[in-house]
Formats: sequence, structure tokens, C-alpha cells
Amino acid sequence: MSFSFDIKHAQSDSLARVGTINTPHGPIQTPAFIPVGTKATVKSVLPEAMKDLGSQALLSNAYHLYLQPGSDVLDEAGGLAKFMNWPGPTFTDSGGFQVLSLGVGFKKVLAMDAQTFRRDDVIAGNKDRLAHVDDEGVTFKSHLDGSMHRFTPEVSMQVQHQIGADIMFAFDECTTLHNTRPYQELAMDRTYAWAIRCLDEHKRLTEERTGKPYQALFGVIQGAQYEDLRKKAATDLGSLESSGQSFDGFGIGGALDKGQLGTIVSWVNEILPEDKPRHLLGIGAPEDLFVGVENGCDTFDCVLASRIARTSAVYTMEGRFNLSNSRFKRDFTPIDSQCDCYTCTHYTRAYMHHVFRGKEIISATLATIHNERFIVRLVDQMRQALMDGNFADMKADFLGRYTHRSGQSRD
Ligand SMILES: [Zn+2]
Repeated sequence: MSFSFDIKHAQSDSLARVGTINTPHGPIQTPAFIPVGTKATVKSVLPEAMKDLGSQALLSNAYHLYLQPGSDVLDEAGGLAKFMNWPGPTFTDSGGFQVLSLGVGFKKVLAMDAQTFRRDDVIAGNKDRLAHVDDEGVTFKSHLDGSMHRFTPEVSMQVQHQIGADIMFAFDECTTLHNTRPYQELAMDRTYAWAIRCLDEHKRLTEERTGKPYQALFGVIQGAQYEDLRKKAATDLGSLESSGQSFDGFGIGGALDKGQLGTIVSWVNEILPEDKPRHLLGIGAPEDLFVGVENGCDTFDCVLASRIARTSAVYTMEGRFNLSNSRFKRDFTPIDSQCDCYTCTHYTRAYMHHVFRGKEIISATLATIHNERFIVRLVDQMRQALMDGNFADMKADFLGRYTHRSGQSRD
């Protein structure tokens, strides 16, 4: 087995820690932000550029790759990293989130504040329910061609083993903040039963697929905004063992109320085994990353950095703004004068304004490079600040400036 997690430093006054996740495709220094390449590509950006901007790993989605090109194609190609020419570690999300985005929570999730829930692609444009959940699994209709498919915990494990990412997530039922309390309990019991089936199938596939690099499996902690449910999920999944196998790490998922993010995450991380990595699913706004790190999360993923970049929205030390705004037409300064990314060291706001206004393809590439660099570097700086013992100062300094123009820091 070539998966391990070493903690180098743990804060005495908070749950924050610094460590290294070792995978068959290389190490990840944590805390770390993991950019999302949903369909085995970070939209508009070459893998070499992702490496240059400091990305240590990428996260793709098993559901999307199962539908297209098919997980068997990735298996034949030698796995996700090789297939997409990414020279480092990879993650796959299980497809459980699509239960929510296609099915029971479909309309509700779109009605929620986009800042509070941004885990992967929410499929818009079709008002019909596309997925149905039962105790065995989920039956769903492909958003691509309308064909019918069924995901069970076993199928999700088979698909994720074929895709071959270093870190996979157990198949879970993801609820929304709007589900009733009885439904949250039902979904959590189901997620627990599915976790056992995931561990069993993972064990079987690991033994069957000899000669393949070990793939780590993370359990997913649900429970929405309820303290007792979150704690129960962390207790049950944290200690779960089946077929002699326990989870290699954990994902904190489901509906997360932004105002309560730190509280919810600390409920869970105070219980989860300290020696295993914890990934906060779908969280990546600067202010939320501080909350995640100081409450003991090691890795994060979010599509927001690249998605907003394609709409000309960029992060800077002073907050977030939109490059399409006419005030940038003759602004010959970089997007962020303190940024060391390829875009900021070679292009001006005036040029970015021009290519966005002209709908040039390069606009997406350059803005995505900047935003991903901004978020990756921010979490790298948090890691360094933890090591240097000045995390609180670094956080106060960043948030003091970042919220300076708070009216422009949100959608
Ligand atoms: Zn930049």
C-alpha cells in the first residue's frame, strides 16, 4: 500500500494541522486546495499550466466520466492521471452528489445561495426529475442522451476503480438544507449502509485488480446542519471496519450552511480519527478556506475559481471584481499587482477586458490561471503560516484587505 498521511505539525489552540498525504502518484502537502477538472480537464487550461501554478492534485467526477467517455476507456488508457496527461495525484468524487443535483434536491439546490453550495456541476435547464433513490442505489437518466443508468455502491466502486484516481469517495446520498429532519435521518442511515458496501466492494476490487496502484477510499460524512447527526456520522464512519478494511480518510459533504461552516466542521473533526486526512467537499471561497483550515480540514476542492473566471470574475487581494467592467478598458496594470501567476506577469487588465469583451477563448484560459493560482497560493500561505506560528495574523491581514471592498467580493 502506498497511501499514507503524516502530520508534521498540529496547532495547540485549534484543530488545524500541517501534513503530507502520500499517494502512488506523489505527495500532497496539506492543507491544500485541489482544483477541479470535472471531465478530466480543468476547462481551458493545459495540465502543464496547472502544475506551473502550483496545483498539487486534481479532482474529477466519476459520474461524468462514467457517462463520457466511459470508465472502461480510462481503465484501458492506464487511469485518469495518464489519460489526461496530469503528472500527479488525482481524486474522483463518487457520483453521489448527482443524486442530489439530478434528483430529489434538484430544484432546491438551485434555489439555495450559490455561495453555500457549490460542489461540482449542478445540471440546469431540465425541470424533470432525472434520478430516483432507493435503499439499493440510484436510477437516473443521462443528461447527455436520456439513457437510463443505475448506480449502486458497488457500481460506484467499480467505476472509480476503473477510473483509477489515487483518492476516491464512498457513494453517499447528499441531502439539501431543505430536506426534512426525518429525511436527513433516512439518508444518513442509507449512507452508512452504503459505506459498508463500498468498503466491501473496494476490498474485493483491490484484491482482484492486482498490479494496480493502491487507491484510497474516503468515507463521506453527512448530517446537514444537525449536530447530533453530524456527530453520529463522524463516530459511525470514523470507526467503521468491514472486510478488515476501514476508510483511508474522510470527506465532509452535504449541505453546509455557510454561517455555520466552522461549527459543523469542528463537530465532525473533533471526532474523526486524527491520523487520517479530511477533505471538505465543494468549499473554495477564500473566507471559507480559512474556516476549513482552522477547523482541521486538510484538502478542499471547488469549481468556483474556474467557473467564475469564465464569466470574467477574478479574485484579488482587495476582493473580487469583474474584468468586463468598462473601467478596465485603459487599465494597464495586472489583475492583481501582488500576484505571481503567468497571467499577471504577462497581461494587463486592459488586455483581459478586451478579450472578454471580444469573447476570445484565451480570456477563459488566462482568467482561470489567475483564479486557480490565487486560491492554491492562499492555502499554501495558510500552510506556511501554520508552520511559522502566525496563522491568526495572516488571516486577519488577508480578510482585512479582502473584505475592504466587500460589495465587490460576492456574486
Ligand atoms: Zn494572477
